[in-house]
Amino acid sequence: MTGIDEAGIQAVLAEVEAFVRGPGEEYAAEIEQSGMVADKLWADLRDRGFLRLAAPVEYGGRGIPFSRYLEVLELISMSHASVRMIVHVCNGVWRSMDQFATDAQRERFVLPQVAGDLRVAFTLTEPTAGTGADLRSSVEREGETYYLSGEKHLITFGVSCDYWLLFARLAGTSGKDGTLALLVDRDAPGVIVESMSGTMGVRGTDHARLVFNRTPVPVANRLGDEGSGLDVALGGFLTPSRIAVAMSCVGLARRAQELAVEHARARTTFGKPLAARQAISFALAENAADIEAARQLTLYAARQWEDGDVRAGSLSSMAKLTAVDMLTRVTDKALQVHGGIGFWESSTIERVYRDARAQRFEEGTNEIQKTVIAREVLGSVQ
Ligand SMILES: Cc1cc2nc3c(=O)[nH]c(=O)nc-3n(C[C@H](O)[C@H](O)[C@H](O)COP(=O)(O)OP(=O)(O)OC[C@H]3O[C@@H](n4cnc5c(N)ncnc54)[C@H](O)[C@@H]3O)c2cc1C
Repeated sequence: MTGIDEAGIQAVLAEVEAFVRGPGEEYAAEIEQSGMVADKLWADLRDRGFLRLAAPVEYGGRGIPFSRYLEVLELISMSHASVRMIVHVCNGVWRSMDQFATDAQRERFVLPQVAGDLRVAFTLTEPTAGTGADLRSSVEREGETYYLSGEKHLITFGVSCDYWLLFARLAGTSGKDGTLALLVDRDAPGVIVESMSGTMGVRGTDHARLVFNRTPVPVANRLGDEGSGLDVALGGFLTPSRIAVAMSCVGLARRAQELAVEHARARTTFGKPLAARQAISFALAENAADIEAARQLTLYAARQWEDGDVRAGSLSSMAKLTAVDMLTRVTDKALQVHGGIGFWESSTIERVYRDARAQRFEEGTNEIQKTVIAREVLGSVQ
């Protein structure tokens, strides 16, 4: 349900922009210095209502339509990557749970997550298997309890979360069959949680490596049926999430471009500002065109998803592929415009450049996006 009119959306956009340019910059500096995201940032984002922008009003959300929410996410993505990560995950993960949740599960998990009171980490990737139907973590069922064994890694908020939204399979099954989605309590017994710090970008966000050894999980914590685990992970949730990541690339690219424009105006060499040199102004013009093209494709994919177009899935992959490649080009040129000083941590572009690289993995690599698009292009030949 839409719970907000045009004036309301414009007010949210103004509020978010003021946050990004004001307190967001202070948080960014703190995160880079400490290497940690302080609890007060989570609380601040929750209290400002930024974690429940996209959820429906009846769930306690702001009810901003998806394609308009993307405009908000675009602005948020101009901030530190960890700020973007919190806002993106919290505004999206409810969707994967909600489509399969019973009323009781909605009360227990979805509504508190939308309210920002429950932190849920999407827990799919494994160190010893490919992402998706290849997964190896498995459960054995005894009465009303599953016993979970296996390993996960690279899990965003996997250390600090309250629940892992975890994908596993019934022991002895293979492929998509027998996969299931479980909400596993962060404090359940039989789990080793290791923090995976030391990332190239998105500093401050915690990531986990998890080892489960017959960890008990109540059957009541299963979303959907046995066999529908990958539908929870990749079904109705993946398309909007991929489009949201594409828009995150657009926002971050806009930040890089802004920094490059500022620098090109301010820095003088051989008696003229850099901006007066054709080589520099052309690089900035190419960036502007690149950003706008990716932005429009992303918004188109979002509107087609809202309209129920069957091509929305492949459009989401096209948008993600296009946006992430655009981001690589734009951040590279933006750093070049800065000259050598851009290579130093004292320049914001240094952080933006590192953060941009992470987007190549989120919601599927370029190779996976091309596989999805090729399936539509080539049909059954594949
Ligand atoms: C910052 C960050 C945060 C993350 N957060 C999460 C999270 O919260 N939850 C989560 O579950 N995961 C998370 N991940 C993991 C991310 O989803 C994976 O890194 C990504 O899906 C790629 O999987 P992989 O690392 O296992 O690479 P691999 O599967 O080992 O792939 C290595 C390379 O080979 C390519 N490749 C693999 N298989 C094929 C194939 N069949 N055909 C063609 N090419 C192939 C890949 O595209 C990639 O380029 C995160 C990763 C990063 C970097």
